[in-house]
Amino acid sequence: MSIFKRFYPNLYTKTTYNIDFVKLFDHGYRGIIFDIDNTLVPHDAPADIRATMLFKKLHAMGFQTMIVSNNKEPRVKSFADVVGSEYVFQADKPGTKGYLEAVARMALPKERVIVIGDQFFTDIWGANRSGLCSVMVGRISPKEPPHIHLKRVLEQPIKRAYFKKRRQEKKQGLDGWENM
Ligand SMILES: [Mg+2]
Repeated sequence: MSIFKRFYPNLYTKTTYNIDFVKLFDHGYRGIIFDIDNTLVPHDAPADIRATMLFKKLHAMGFQTMIVSNNKEPRVKSFADVVGSEYVFQADKPGTKGYLEAVARMALPKERVIVIGDQFFTDIWGANRSGLCSVMVGRISPKEPPHIHLKRVLEQPIKRAYFKKRRQEKKQGLDGWENM
């Protein structure tokens, strides 16, 4: 077992926008916790039509949504208001407080909530520490502030180990959904 396991998501996909949300619903998930920056839009970009349509679709399907971000309230609220979602700002990920608050506000059991984010050290580690399943996505844009760039460099060994594990699983015919 890898020493990096605590940082691993349950599933990885290249972008939020090709996640099979019908399959998530069929697996019993009813609440989705989203990161914003580089998960839904490029870093610091406003909510766009693609993000807005996604939330509309998810709400119509019967999902509750929560945006949980380490960013400050003006950024998080303005985004959440456009897509019509509840939110938690300054969540202190990888701390568990923001995630647990989001779960409590949705009034769902943890096993019905999924976390979607683009960073091992914040989104995914925080989800694991909170006892929540997670989907990691590739970042939307490489344009990021220096402190995030530094985390990307530090993430590299974890990313390599995780993708190696996934390659081995794929050889065994596993598609990643068995972890969900
Ligand atoms: Mg992010």
